[in-house]
Amino acid sequence: MPATHEDLHPGSEAALSLVAPAPWSRPSAPGALPIRERAELAIERYALRARQARVGARVLSHVVRGLVEPLIHTNRDFGNLRDKGEQTSRRVADADEARALLTAAYASGTPVNVGAGLHSSNGHTLSRGGLRLLLDGATWGAPRMLPGDLVEVPAPMRWGDLEAFLRRHGRASPVLTDHLHTTVGGTLSVGGGIGTRSLVGGRQLDQIERAHFILPNGETRSASATENVDLFRYGLGSQGVLGIVDRVVMRTAPRRPFVAQFRVQWRTLSEAARAADRFVRACDDPSFAFLDIVGPILDSSVVELTLGFEFATRREAHALLRAPPAALAPLAPRIFTRRVVKDLANANHARSAPYIAMLTAPRDPHVFLWNDFFFPSYRTYARFLRHFETQAAPRVGNRYLMAALGLAYATFPERPTFPIAGLVREPGQRPFSIGFNYAVPHGDPEGQAAIRRLLDELQRVAVDMGGRLYRYGYSDADAAELRRIYGDDYDRLLALRAEVDPRGLFNPDVLR
Ligand SMILES: Cc1cc2nc3c(=O)[nH]c(=O)nc-3n(C[C@H](O)[C@H](O)[C@H](O)COP(=O)(O)OP(=O)(O)OC[C@H]3O[C@@H](n4cnc5c(N)ncnc54)[C@H](O)[C@@H]3O)c2cc1C
Repeated sequence: MPATHEDLHPGSEAALSLVAPAPWSRPSAPGALPIRERAELAIERYALRARQARVGARVLSHVVRGLVEPLIHTNRDFGNLRDKGEQTSRRVADADEARALLTAAYASGTPVNVGAGLHSSNGHTLSRGGLRLLLDGATWGAPRMLPGDLVEVPAPMRWGDLEAFLRRHGRASPVLTDHLHTTVGGTLSVGGGIGTRSLVGGRQLDQIERAHFILPNGETRSASATENVDLFRYGLGSQGVLGIVDRVVMRTAPRRPFVAQFRVQWRTLSEAARAADRFVRACDDPSFAFLDIVGPILDSSVVELTLGFEFATRREAHALLRAPPAALAPLAPRIFTRRVVKDLANANHARSAPYIAMLTAPRDPHVFLWNDFFFPSYRTYARFLRHFETQAAPRVGNRYLMAALGLAYATFPERPTFPIAGLVREPGQRPFSIGFNYAVPHGDPEGQAAIRRLLDELQRVAVDMGGRLYRYGYSDADAAELRRIYGDDYDRLLALRAEVDPRGLFNPDVLR
């Protein structure tokens, strides 16, 4: 999952100042850094900013030409990894039309693939000679607020449109992804919806109370933690193999759009993760709701840990900047930015979309080898990061690493569990994830092969350590590997699939 690319854009680094001590820090503060080390950190950061500015200039030229959204290929997936040839696609306006099409396809034995925002990789949404249904969020229906601050959402709706709707009601999505043109159903189907607010909101998946499915034969079912429970638990997170998600009911959060941010500089992912883990244990401020770890990119060794505190008003956010929580004191010498951002997810989308647009441009196309790795505890996360940093990454460098994004998750228990989705939990432990987003030029097959080998290795290592992968990205896994990853849950999924789709006609290419 792509990180915030805000610093890839000229002028976005508001605090290109020397590493200034935070107002509450003193030379004797715990963790204070010698002046020389501070200067070294600043030099490393400026070197990175200079490289980012060069990339930013290219991005800007795309923006000027109006190329602000990534190109969605017609016969290739978003990652530009698989080509399934000419596609027969059909736009589907609403649930009634979807039901009729599925009923007819099922009766005639026609394979059907489903796509919505088309942002997943590995060709899940592409058909091989069958029918490709493109669910149209613009016509599928409107969301509506329900009692208890719940919202009913047409699944093909984009997260950005849902956010705009919720804003009008003084509410917000508990978690927002960096990219807001993905759809609700597409994200839930791959088992995710992770972002900087996952720290308190978990995944978007964790916020779903009910889902309404259109089964592969055109019949409909409602599912929740108490009704058609297995359809609910396995239908979300398994890449849409049990039917179309027509609409969902999800929880919402109060709208608190102002985020007071502190950005802390480290030299390795492991150091940043350790600091993040310590901070989340130490900080009991109720406004603390955002955390991410970004880097290292562009041949640098800069890793940025961002901690955010959310408020309803700008005044409150600035007040926190002036009087930060005591738990931040040990990090003070490494803090290089303190600022207030409004509507963080929208800001991140506005910055990252044109950057990815540039990497999908026909003149200079890239292959996206992306995936996120989830771990049930900080302990397993730290072991994985150590492997990545000491053994895997040195072999390929970070030249093609467009973003590495680390996230922490809320510790509330899953209600219920979604066995095929990536996040695994251990009682009393906080899960963490790390996403690696490599963008390799299309014309560099050796570079692509090296990154594929790296991601294959990381998948093996992560699974050995009790971790899991996000189902939207690059991952080659045959049935044996899927069984190794999901154990009995994989067999349960296959059994459910055989019940609703005995001839294997629906989304036939995924999760076999
Ligand atoms: C630029 C970019 C940024 C991203 N950022 C984030 C992020 O910050 N956080 C995060 O969690 N993820 C992120 N992702 C991953 C993203 O959530 C997934 O790619 C997700 O699948 C996108 O939704 P979509 O509507 O594009 O799905 P699609 O690619 O259209 O579909 C994905 C899968 O779900 C199935 N499907 C789609 N809609 C339905 C439905 N209504 N019913 C049943 N099955 C369905 C499809 O058949 C397919 O198997 C990002 C991806 C990209 C490309």
